[in-house]
Amino acid sequence: MSQRTFSIIKPDAVKKGHAGAILAEIEKAGFKIVSIKKVSISKAQAEGFYHVHAARPFFGELTEFMSSGPIFPMVLEKDNAIADLRKLMGATNPAQAEEGTIRKKFAASIGENAIHGSDAEETAAFEIGYFFAGYELK
Ligand code: ATP
Ligand code: MG
Repeated sequence: MSQRTFSIIKPDAVKKGHAGAILAEIEKAGFKIVSIKKVSISKAQAEGFYHVHAARPFFGELTEFMSSGPIFPMVLEKDNAIADLRKLMGATNPAQAEEGTIRKKFAASIGENAIHGSDAEETAAFEIGYFFAGYELK
């Protein structure tokens, strides 16, 4: 059944000029891009987005990084979108990411790992609503 997920091309990938190549991988894998924009977020906005990680030791580093430059938040749609995007992204640590995955190809480290993808239906709904208004999601 068709499902929506939320993704971000992170600041490291945008800075290196990999946004277009990552979008090509996503489209090649059968995702429809429902909505996409280029934005820069504040540290406070990054903290709100990653609130589930607030107690983690890397929270400061993560939110500093996510607010360090432009990002491309986007909403993607296909059958089984949430799980399929996680598979296409590869492991959080690119050193452990499978061959052919986006993080294997484009990520430098566990902190600067090129792409975000929602991990469940509830988080996808929260994350889509965090970045997109209803009129942007037709
Ligand atoms: P994302 O939520 O960004 O899609 P993920 O679900 O693979 O990634 P999470 O466990 O949700 O991984 O961690 C969120 C993000 O926090 C990671 O993508 C990474 O950028 C950062 N992160 C996770 N673990 C570490 C760590 N040990 N050191 C530094 N940064 C980390
Ligand atoms: Mg996550």
